[in-house]
Amino acid sequence: MAALGERVSTSEGAGGTNTGGLVSDGTGPGGPSSGGPSSGGPVPDGTVPDGTGPGGPSLGARALVGPPEIVTTKDGLASLIDRLEGSPEYALDTEFHRERTYWPRLALVQLAWRSKPEGQQHVALVDPLAVDPEPLSQVLARPSVMVAHAATQDLEVLAHACGVLPSHLFDTQIAAGFLGYGSASLTSLTERFLRVRLTKGDRLTDWSRRPLTPSQISYAASDVTHLLGLAHEISAQLVARGRLSWAEEECATLLARPQNPVDPHEAWWKLRDNRHLQGVSRGIAQEVAAWREEKARTLDIQPRMVLADLALLSIAHSPPATVPALRETRGIDARHLRGNAEEEIMAAVAKGKALPPGSLRLAQTQPMSKELRPAVTLATAWVAQLSRDEEVDAALLATRTDVVDFLSGKPAARLGEGWRAGLVGAPLRRLANGEASLALDGHGRLLLEDRLRGQHRSVS
Ligand SMILES: [Zn+2]
Repeated sequence: MAALGERVSTSEGAGGTNTGGLVSDGTGPGGPSSGGPSSGGPVPDGTVPDGTGPGGPSLGARALVGPPEIVTTKDGLASLIDRLEGSPEYALDTEFHRERTYWPRLALVQLAWRSKPEGQQHVALVDPLAVDPEPLSQVLARPSVMVAHAATQDLEVLAHACGVLPSHLFDTQIAAGFLGYGSASLTSLTERFLRVRLTKGDRLTDWSRRPLTPSQISYAASDVTHLLGLAHEISAQLVARGRLSWAEEECATLLARPQNPVDPHEAWWKLRDNRHLQGVSRGIAQEVAAWREEKARTLDIQPRMVLADLALLSIAHSPPATVPALRETRGIDARHLRGNAEEEIMAAVAKGKALPPGSLRLAQTQPMSKELRPAVTLATAWVAQLSRDEEVDAALLATRTDVVDFLSGKPAARLGEGWRAGLVGAPLRRLANGEASLALDGHGRLLLEDRLRGQHRSVS
């Protein structure tokens, strides 16, 4: 087995979407997955998490070395950052709360890495309530790979707390999607790949309380303890199936995606029933929602604490002409109207009413043309079959929106680019062009077959 954390130099500097060398030799325990994995079937009865898979000791088994280090000082953080220098990869997870605040309130940053040369694993918990975590930006900016599980929110939190995103990302949930595991939990993947059963933590635990309880500490540590081992096992199987580059591409796409928060002028898209707004109401909804979003950011409170959705929609539907009329609007709470809020809302209403047509921001969801519907139905059925045949999570292959975008010829449609182009886009194009047809194989399985011109005649 390749040395852990060994960099594969060929994937370095190639530009594009490499994750910086998180590559195994493809001989991990279990080998290429076969026989239709389900997302997280339990470890068979009697299996103890001893970490001895068929291919030798599992990486997860020797992962935890003593209790995690807890970093609460500037010097401690600086030392941690020094020790992480030169690690080709590190695992990272965050715990945060966002019930009342606009910005996520970071409560813990967990890191795991392996020291060189002996490969011993270390786990550290950085306490952002005790020390500003911003210097971790130095770690993120290095050309090493951050391994995380379902990293979308972690990225958002890191961007806010540290001001940067990791230079490379390996998301174990995305990567496992290319082995047929759809939106798999970390627990199910460590069971499947490492035969390690993670202790279930209390999902509703308060991460902002101090001191953290021993069970909080061990739960937080376990979120990163097995990530590097898991990433290596998944990578090995992806290499064996020639799919590592697909996963890398998908992780790079996640990293390149614009982080929340949204443009305030698009905040109204999140309103329930926004599609029922017509005419000038849409402009008003856009401007008042933008005002609300910006106010919420400034005050670091939830937008609905600035102005309830009901009040916002009422204002958009029947815009008040005067401040007294505003005060009578449904859903308006006197607490919403403190400070200059009344004047600001009235100004937003006026701006929304006078919005030039080109300034209205509409979500990109045009209704699908009727002629496209049969093609979309067939294509969607085939994508589901392809997902089973290839053992790739269907949501990764193509969403319904992807199919519609591609078939309606939208420029830069996802199915026409990257790894999807050959696997999904090209066959769909043939289907849409009449060069291929869909048939059933007699056992309920859909087949996409070449359609020889002239051989098949329309019955009607
Ligand atoms: Zn966690």
